Amino acid sequence: MNLKSKIRSVLDFPIEGIDFKDITTVLKDKEALRETIKQMAEKVSNREVDLVVGMEARGFLLGTPLAYEIGAGFVPVRKPGKLPAETISYEYELEYGTDKLEMHRDAIFKGQRVLIVDDLLATGGTAVATAKMIEELGGDIVGALFFIELDELKGREKLSGYSVESIVQY
Ligand code: AMP
Repeated sequence: MNLKSKIRSVLDFPIEGIDFKDITTVLKDKEALRETIKQMAEKVSNREVDLVVGMEARGFLLGTPLAYEIGAGFVPVRKPGKLPAETISYEYELEYGTDKLEMHRDAIFKGQRVLIVDDLLATGGTAVATAKMIEELGGDIVGALFFIELDELKGREKLSGYSVESIVQY
């Protein structure tokens, strides 16, 4: 199945100049959804994974079914103020200003093998922030897996040192 043809591109959303990759058209298609999770699972079939860590919000939508499929647990990374128990956080630079992500302090035990999952890799800032928190908790990052990768933003370079994989590239 051509999964790329199922992704909807929306120009100038949420702001002018952004070519937004909308995966709701993949999620609502029962064959495309199943195929997406199958292909993501195949990418990591040679690795032992204890936990999938997915980033708010679309990382939840693909990360949880992937975790179920490969027999791992799932841990959410959220925007500030959303997680109820004790958290750790990481602040990172954006083009304008900063952003912050949080994770539960007890989400990962030392030595657990962790796979980072999100719908899309752009500049890599979100994934690097997530990796920093996982490492602060003592997790062992086995890789970062994305459904979509925007090649020209070079997020892969920011994640050098980790195994980075994606299913669809633009
Ligand atoms: P980045 O930190 O720059 O790699 O951005 C990745 C995060 O922003 C992911 O959680 C994506 O869901 C979202 N994102 C960035 N650019 C796009 C885009 N063009 N289309 C859809 N989502 C995007």
